[in-house]
Amino acid sequence: MHQSHMLIEGAIVPFVPGRIDTIYNPANQEPVAEVAVGTRQDAGLALQAARKAFPVWSGTPSSKRAEVLHEAARLVRERAEEIARLLTLEQGKPLKNAKMELLSSADVLDYYAEEGKRNFGEWISGAHSRSIVLRQPVGVCALITPWNYPVDLLAWKVAPALAAGCTFVAKPPSKAPLAATEFVRAVCDAGLPAGAANVVHGPGGEVGAKLVESPISRKIAFTGETATGKAIMASAATHIKRVSLELGGQSPFIVCADADLPAAAASAAQRAFSNMGQICISVNRIYVAEQVAEEFTEQLVRRAERFKIGDGLQPDVDLGPMFSREQREKTREHVADALGKGAELLSGGSEPEGEEYEKGYFFLPTVLGEADHRMRVMREETFGPVAPIMRFKTLEEAMALANDSEYGLAAYVFTSNLKTALLAAEGLEAGGIGVNVNNVVDLQAPFGGWKESGLGRELGHWGLESYLETKHIRLGM
Ligand code: NDP
Repeated sequence: MHQSHMLIEGAIVPFVPGRIDTIYNPANQEPVAEVAVGTRQDAGLALQAARKAFPVWSGTPSSKRAEVLHEAARLVRERAEEIARLLTLEQGKPLKNAKMELLSSADVLDYYAEEGKRNFGEWISGAHSRSIVLRQPVGVCALITPWNYPVDLLAWKVAPALAAGCTFVAKPPSKAPLAATEFVRAVCDAGLPAGAANVVHGPGGEVGAKLVESPISRKIAFTGETATGKAIMASAATHIKRVSLELGGQSPFIVCADADLPAAAASAAQRAFSNMGQICISVNRIYVAEQVAEEFTEQLVRRAERFKIGDGLQPDVDLGPMFSREQREKTREHVADALGKGAELLSGGSEPEGEEYEKGYFFLPTVLGEADHRMRVMREETFGPVAPIMRFKTLEEAMALANDSEYGLAAYVFTSNLKTALLAAEGLEAGGIGVNVNNVVDLQAPFGGWKESGLGRELGHWGLESYLETKHIRLGM
C-alpha cells in the first residue's frame, strides 16, 4: 500500500507509531494508503526549516529559480500517470481528469518560472532625490488547500511563492493528501535548497492553525470553506499577516432568450456536474428566460442523463463518486429541502442503482425545476451535482436574483446580444464572469472572489504579486 510521509527540510519524516491514518477510496471504501498524521510540533519544525532556507532561496537569482521551476514542471509531467492514479484513488475523480490536473499543475510551474523573471523594480527621479522601488519576497508562506483539486490549487500557490523567492510549508487536506504530497516531492527533487518546500499532514484545527498563528509565517494562502477562511483571517490579524483567501462559491448561470440553447445546456451540464459538482465555480443556480425555459430544461435533462458514472479508474467514466459520505449526505439534504419547498425533480435525486455503486459515494446528476430562493440549493454551497432551475421575465430580475447571495466567485451569462452580455458582465457581483463560456479559470488572468468568496487574486501576474512586498529606497542627491 502507498505510504505518504511528511517532508521537512528536504527529508522524508519516518512514520511515528500511533500517528498513522488510512486513506480510503471513495469509489469502494477500500484502503489505498497510509498517511502520517502530523502535530503542531511538526508544523513548527517545518516552519523553522522554511525560515532557514529563506535567505538561500530568496538570494538565488530569478533566472536560476526559473530553471528549478521548469525542472519541477518536467518532473511533474514525468510522474503524472503515477500521481494521477493516487489522486483518483483518494479523491474519486476519473483518471483522465486527474491526469489533466497534474498536467495543468506542471503548466503553472512553467508559467511562474518565466513570470518570476519579470519582477522588475521602478525608478523615480525627484528634484533632490532618486527613488528605487523594489518588490521583494514576503518570507515564509503557509499554503493550505482543500480536497476537491488538491494538486492544482496547491500548484497555484507553490509556483508563484517559489518564483517570488518565498519558501513554504504546505498543508494538504487530511483526507486527500497523497497526490499533493507527491507533487511537492517532485518540486523538491527539482533542486530546491533543503527546507524551501515542506509538507506537513494533520488536522486543520491543529497543524493548519499552528501554521497560521506562528509568527514565522508571513503570508497565508488558503483555499477552502468560507467559515475556515474567516477563522484564518482572524488568526492572521494577530501578526498582520498577508492573506489570500479563495473561498466558497454559489455561482449563477443566466440563460437569456436569445442564447444558443444547445451550447448553454452543454455548458451548464458540464460545469454543474463535473467533479460531481465539487468545484468552487460550479454552476449552482440556473436562471432561464421563460420563453426558452422548457426547451433549455429538456436539453439539460438529456445531457444530465448521458454521463457515464463509475469508479474513476475505469476507462471512459465521466463522473466518479462524491468525495465522502458527508458530501453526499449534504447533497441529499439540499435536494430534500428543495423538494419539500416545491421544487420539481426532473432527473436524478438519488444514488445510481447497481452492485458496482453500492460501496461508493455515488450520486446521480440531479436537475430540479421550479426552484426559488427559499431553497438551500439556491443560497448555500451544496458542493454536489445539483442544477436547480428558476425562470425569469427580465434581465434586471435575473441580475437581481444572481446577485442575491453573500458569495461572489463566478457568474455566467449566455446570450447572443453584445449589449446584454456587457450589461450583465458589468452588473454581476463576482470576481470572474463567463460570457458564453462555463469556466473563468485562465492561467494568465486573475482568479478570486468578491464578497464572502475571498480576498486577493491567484494566477497571472496578480498571483506573483501576492507573494511580494514593496520597498521604497530613497537616495538623497
Ligand atoms: P476546509 O475549509 O474544510 O479545509 C481546507 C483546508 O483547510 C484543509 O487542508 C483543512 O485541513 C484546513 N483547515 C481546516 N481548519 C483549519 C484551521 N482552523 N486553520 C487552518 N487550516 C484549517 O475546506 P474543504 O477541504 O472542505 O474544501 C471545500 C471548500 O473549498 C468549499 O467551500 C469550496 O468552495 C472551497 N474551494 C474554494 C475554491 C476557490 O478557489 N475559491 C476552490 C476550491 C474549493 P483538514 O483537511 O485537516 O480539515
